[in-house]
Amino acid sequence: MGKLAIIYDDIYLEHKPWYPHPENPRRLEIAVKYLKDYNLWSNGNVRIAKPWKASLDLVYRVHVKGYVDYIVRLSRSPPAEVDPDTYVSEKTLEASLYAIGGLIRAYELYVNEGVDRSIALVRPPGHHAGRAGKAMGAPTQGFCIFNNIAILASYMLEKGYNRIAIVDIDVHHGNGTQEIFWKEPRVLHIDLHQDPLTLYPGTGFPEDIGGGEAKGTKINIVLPMGSGDDVFSEAVDLAITILEQYRPQAILFSAGFDAYVGDGLADIRVTANSFYNIGKRILEELKPNLVIATLEGGYSKGLSRGLPAFTSALLGEENVVEDEYIGSRTTVKSRFKEYMNSLKQILREYWSL
Ligand SMILES: [Zn+2]
Repeated sequence: MGKLAIIYDDIYLEHKPWYPHPENPRRLEIAVKYLKDYNLWSNGNVRIAKPWKASLDLVYRVHVKGYVDYIVRLSRSPPAEVDPDTYVSEKTLEASLYAIGGLIRAYELYVNEGVDRSIALVRPPGHHAGRAGKAMGAPTQGFCIFNNIAILASYMLEKGYNRIAIVDIDVHHGNGTQEIFWKEPRVLHIDLHQDPLTLYPGTGFPEDIGGGEAKGTKINIVLPMGSGDDVFSEAVDLAITILEQYRPQAILFSAGFDAYVGDGLADIRVTANSFYNIGKRILEELKPNLVIATLEGGYSKGLSRGLPAFTSALLGEENVVEDEYIGSRTTVKSRFKEYMNSLKQILREYWSL
């Protein structure tokens, strides 16, 4: 395998809250520290690359003008809040444009230099941001300003791609991404998340499958509270079965690490094993031409343990993080089985499962 690029710049530390907030610059300091500690930063197969700054034109491809202009306005009079979860500080707009530019850089590294796997360690995150801010009836934007991964996917659609897969492994539903591509069959969106009845943003049910020609290309795999590595692995089985049939030209990961046990904001109990295995299986079983992952959530141990495990998988190396595998309780497993049965029944109209 060739090199893995990690896209990073200190500009991502400049989006900062002025009050205690889980989505803060410390997250990236943890991410970088542990990648270094696990020898993944100076690894000979890793290339650290700087992001570009995206233009507002790129943002307008996905978000409505009124919303973009609103963010620009707020960023001129910081500190400001989009909603009680989502803050705008002095450098938020700047960091956001570099977050988008980080993903575009990852894509251009592939086109120009053949770097076929990248992880963009960006802030602010993006997957809850819909076309005009809040998405699918969610109460807030959940720390997100612009939808970084959706902007990259749109950019690639314009370059001629017509089968892009977005795999969202953040513990929260990627409602912004799903809303943006609801009627877009050229984007398969598979989202693994904690049961929306028990977690923000309260969206992403099995019957939500997209609209129009895109029906069947939006897949919500719901994990009951308390799910461990065994349940997560079965969710990955289904994701891979669908991905095999879709044959994506590129796989984009909304890589959140907040499903890690005890990460802080949710109640899923997976370990480094799950983050390693999904990366490894997707590379080995699907042999994608291009993989670009972008950081979404992850607030503590997910960043110090889940992220290095996932990174070592994308490198094609052994898992650097040793964790005891966590199995789910019987009640959790049986609830998951019910969820999966109803999901598969809905999806059989579109996929052979
Ligand atoms: Zn999340």
